[in-house]
Amino acid sequence: MPSDPVDPAAPVLVINAGSSSLKYQLVRADTGQSLATGLIERIGLDDGSARHTVDGTDHVTEQEVRDHAAAFELLTVQFAEHGPDLRETAPGAVGHRVVHGGAKFASTVRIDDEVLETLRRLVPLAPLHNPGNIAGIEVALETFPDLPQVAVFDTAFHQTMPAAAFTYAVPLAWRQTLNIRRYGFHGTSHAYVSRRTAELLGRPLEETNVVVLHLGNGASSCAVEGGRSVDTSMGLTPLEGLVMGTRPGDLDPGLPAHLSRVSGLTLPEFDHALNKESGLKGLAGDSDFRAIEQRRADGDEEATLAFDVVVQQLVRHLGSSALVLGRLDAVAFTAGIGENSTELRAAVLQRAGLLGIELDADANATARGETRISTTDSAVAAFVVPTNEEWEIAREAMQLLAHS
Ligand code: AMP
Repeated sequence: MPSDPVDPAAPVLVINAGSSSLKYQLVRADTGQSLATGLIERIGLDDGSARHTVDGTDHVTEQEVRDHAAAFELLTVQFAEHGPDLRETAPGAVGHRVVHGGAKFASTVRIDDEVLETLRRLVPLAPLHNPGNIAGIEVALETFPDLPQVAVFDTAFHQTMPAAAFTYAVPLAWRQTLNIRRYGFHGTSHAYVSRRTAELLGRPLEETNVVVLHLGNGASSCAVEGGRSVDTSMGLTPLEGLVMGTRPGDLDPGLPAHLSRVSGLTLPEFDHALNKESGLKGLAGDSDFRAIEQRRADGDEEATLAFDVVVQQLVRHLGSSALVLGRLDAVAFTAGIGENSTELRAAVLQRAGLLGIELDADANATARGETRISTTDSAVAAFVVPTNEEWEIAREAMQLLAHS
């Protein structure tokens, strides 16, 4: 692999390719400045759409986007038409978000044929996510053949977990030959938010213990000890742990056999129900937390129960993460729900007095951006810290290339 010098001031083109969507951002690794963002949706369907945003202005087009190759063509057209000009503001690297790196990838890697081959072998671990990521990488390699390309894994941050935290109590053969274990996800978010939280506390990261609650459509908690993940709520797949938009979080492992016996449910049906029909959607028919909050405010019983189930599960995981850490310095809320739902944060923190957290209700109600939401007397701090996965991916990419 040639190691051409990379200009550290050059922006990184961050790519998050799914099976039917392509999200991108041109971002500076040193400052986090976003030069353009874009989203191409419904790839493979007749009614594709693309949004490219520069300087706060959205440029929207609707057209068929045949496949990932067509999506990248559209991406280059968007940059050429609406800027920034990729010849003048040339990216120094392409950073790809990859969901599952298995136990193989404990850190960010430069993509070559061998890495791609390993990613293909890992597809059974993340059949819903990795194929889209791989398609994005393959086309990006053709579109930008002269740029170094880097894979940043959602799972890598959690490779520091001790065996006691990542081992499931299941038969040895499953663990040894099928790689069955906890991997954890949202690693770039947990890494970014835990680091920012230490900075906001004014403490060295190495001496700071944080529980990060990443609460979006997908949700996970992470116990971060001195900047290293030591436990997390998601497992082999992104289904375990907290209640999510359409995923249930923790369940009795006896459920599939029970449902198969009493209703003849097949495994594919079960898989679909757990990925798409559970969580908030299963509880209240709506996967969007804003709608749940609105309905709860109007007295809707299903939405009220859904909110309470989400809170109960969060309290359980926060409590166990704090005990795993032994000493807790801060709790950080992030992602769509964590950054925006005053009520959810209040409901969780009101039950966290035992941990030494005292909620500052006013700060919580008016929180915008990075905000401390615990009182100044609170023994353990609580923060809202907006996540920035694209910046973290850009930083990871540039750090790797600077040292390779
Ligand atoms: P994410 O996956 O991080 O984009 O988060 C998506 C989730 O955040 C959805 O359930 C949204 O309903 C929720 N969300 C976004 N904005 C708000 C808000 N202002 N209040 C409550 N929930 C929100």
